[in-house]
Amino acid sequence: MLKVYNCIATAHDLRLVALAAFICVLASIAAIRLLRYARISKGRMRSLWLAVSAISTGFGIWATHFVAMLAFTPGIPSGYNIILTILSLVAAIFLTGVGLTVSLIEDWRYGPWVGGAIVAGGIAVMHYMGMAAFEIAGIVVWDPVLVAASIVLGAMIGAIALPVGLHGDSERWKIGGALLLTLAICSHHFTAMGAVSIIPDPSITISQTALPAGLLAIGVTIASLGILGLATAGVVIDIRDHRRSELETDRMRDLADATVEGLLVCDGEMIVSANKSFSLLVGCSADSLIGSKLESSFPDSAARAKLMSRPNHTLETELRHRDGSMIPVELIMRPIIFAERPHHVIAVRDLKRRKAAEQHIHFLAHHDALTGLPNRAYFNARVDQEIAALTPGKSLGILCLDLDRFKEINDLFGHAAGDRALQAFTSRVSALLDDQQMMARLGGDEFAILLSGISGPAAAGRLAESILEVLGNIADAPEVPISTSIGIALSPDDAPDRQSLLNHADVALYRAKQEGRAIYRFFEAKMGAEVRDRRMVEHDLRLAISRDELWLAYQPQLDIKRGKVVGFEALVRWKNPSRGEISPGVFIPIAEEIGAILPIGDWVLKEACREAATWKTPLKVAVNVSAVQLHNAAFAQELHGILIESGLPGKRLEIEITETALVRDLNRTLATLRQVKALGVEIAMDDFGTGYSSLSNLRAFPFDRIKIDRSFIKSVHSNQQAATIVRAVLGLGKGLGLPVIAEGVETNEELRFLQEESCDEVQGFLLGRPAAIDTFREYTHPDANLPPADPIKRTASA
Ligand code: C2E
Ligand code: CA
Ligand code: CA
Repeated sequence: MLKVYNCIATAHDLRLVALAAFICVLASIAAIRLLRYARISKGRMRSLWLAVSAISTGFGIWATHFVAMLAFTPGIPSGYNIILTILSLVAAIFLTGVGLTVSLIEDWRYGPWVGGAIVAGGIAVMHYMGMAAFEIAGIVVWDPVLVAASIVLGAMIGAIALPVGLHGDSERWKIGGALLLTLAICSHHFTAMGAVSIIPDPSITISQTALPAGLLAIGVTIASLGILGLATAGVVIDIRDHRRSELETDRMRDLADATVEGLLVCDGEMIVSANKSFSLLVGCSADSLIGSKLESSFPDSAARAKLMSRPNHTLETELRHRDGSMIPVELIMRPIIFAERPHHVIAVRDLKRRKAAEQHIHFLAHHDALTGLPNRAYFNARVDQEIAALTPGKSLGILCLDLDRFKEINDLFGHAAGDRALQAFTSRVSALLDDQQMMARLGGDEFAILLSGISGPAAAGRLAESILEVLGNIADAPEVPISTSIGIALSPDDAPDRQSLLNHADVALYRAKQEGRAIYRFFEAKMGAEVRDRRMVEHDLRLAISRDELWLAYQPQLDIKRGKVVGFEALVRWKNPSRGEISPGVFIPIAEEIGAILPIGDWVLKEACREAATWKTPLKVAVNVSAVQLHNAAFAQELHGILIESGLPGKRLEIEITETALVRDLNRTLATLRQVKALGVEIAMDDFGTGYSSLSNLRAFPFDRIKIDRSFIKSVHSNQQAATIVRAVLGLGKGLGLPVIAEGVETNEELRFLQEESCDEVQGFLLGRPAAIDTFREYTHPDANLPPADPIKRTASA
């Protein structure tokens, strides 16, 4: 070390040493900057910048050496061999070029280190070639230790210089790299010079062709100026570029901050930039994110690896908020060049809202909006699951519930009240359930309860009882009292699969309805047969018209005072080859339920009108019209068509409707009835006294006649209560100006009572059973010579 110090301090002209150092610094700065340009350039531009960098660095090293040599004043005649001097320059440029190229090998971590060492090797080769070009009148003696030290020192510092110079983006790194390169050159040079001892020997002469030191000085000066030029150009380009990139960076940051998605720029696993959205998402400032690892925000290492290996593919994972909570996110990665180097940009989309929406949609798809209960699809899936998981000795119970008279609640109190009743029912019943039990709304007023893992029917029965009990408890009943019928079936005892299990529970429910409502019934095998039979009836009923199995019976209606038949009520009959005669009391409700009432009702109206139009006397024909028919918007229009087709005057037709037909949709029914009246058709209120028997209905609707239900006529002469009601209805008719007809008159006593109370008309077995119209030919086609008999007189005398 002392030797090196002595070499610089005593053997050198220090002013020229300073100049050498200055040239060296300039050359090094230029080298690093130009190298960085080469790195961000592509293809031919990269080779060009590499060449410029190699030339300037090579010249710099060379000039530093020779200026330093000029500063070396051994005081003995000396000169330089031209060839070797030029070769040393070529070697410096070539080896520097190789080193710089190696330092930029892509995806090789050690490139900059090895490249730096090669550049340092170039310095050494140049130096010792330069020394070989040095001709002096003396013997040059080398200290091998310092020679070795000079090479090792240069190589070590050079190996650090390039990685430092290429590392970060800030000036610190660039200048650090340049200074290290300077240090590598200078330390090598002066250590190597320290290794030299010259023993003067005047016998050695300097060759004629040797370049005198003066000329060399001119060459070196030109070379130095060249370096200065290149370095300045490098700096200017760099500054300009820097400004542009700063502007660009600002613009990019503004843009990145404006995006809704979180954006991250990463160098490998390290975050180097983050936008506002991301910092909001993760809950800390963008600055504090810089330098942190991706891992701290995205803990799932498998997801990270997948993300990095598949650019432009979306991936769902979780983001760790700084408060520890996890947020579902979607990531997409793309490679970019950022700060002149390959980086990754990661877009982060918050999936919280989407997940919540998905969950909501999932909920909606599986639940009923009104009651919040699981719906049929969800219920079915659960039943399937539970059946599959059934263990020996355990049973699965299904309770099917159907509200009693729910249609009437809707009809009487409106749909809002119906909805409230369903909600009240839901909350009261679900309060009785535990975790093992699930209640679902299958539709309308149909509900089902799943009981999993029960040991037998008793558990299901107990639940059914407590449901009936809680609903029957009037004390805390809602505005509209509700009751339900319950059918129960068990798996595996009753059925092995969901479909038949639900069917069987339904069959048991049907039985509960039939046997009085507000009760529960277990499924029994024989019930199945009944239900199958009912399905067959439905099937046959649909085909009844096309198979010509319907016909009309007619029952006479009489004017009491005149004892004359004034009309007939048409009553439909179904004669099925295998079932025989089926009462309309049985099949009409079924037809209403399955919708077959529309074609049947239409057929009855057509047939009755066609028939009545053939009568010689203008007797009236009364036809029963069901509520379902009346709610068909086209009813009046169709009726009009039937009248025209049959040629029957409207005033000879009367339709009989019951009160239940009115209440479902008052306004629509009223409009339909007005249209019917406009056709001249009359309207009778059938079965009066059994329904709501509301006065307001009688007043609001355009009735022409009241029919007292036959249940009041039965024993009216002896039953005080029935008599009171019949008197009241008769009084009502008088008050409203509506004639009253009593149906179901079976005895003379009943008839006499009605005569005494001056009822207007009568109908019943006593006066004529419903029968084929031919039976009544004497009334419909009377013989001019033989007036029709008076049934009243006839029966009275009998
Ligand atoms: P409804 O309209 O009250 O018809 C009168 C019912 O009483 C008829 O029963 C008739 O046979 C029966 N009847 C008549 N006189 C007496 C009597 O003195 N004593 C007793 N105990 N019964 C008597 P039917 O024919 O079995 O009809 C039952 C119900 O079926 C009818 O009751 C009516 O609501 C319905 N219905 C019948 N035909 C039709 C139709 O064409 N269309 C519609 N929608 N319903 C019909
Ligand atoms: Ca009737
Ligand atoms: Ca009736």
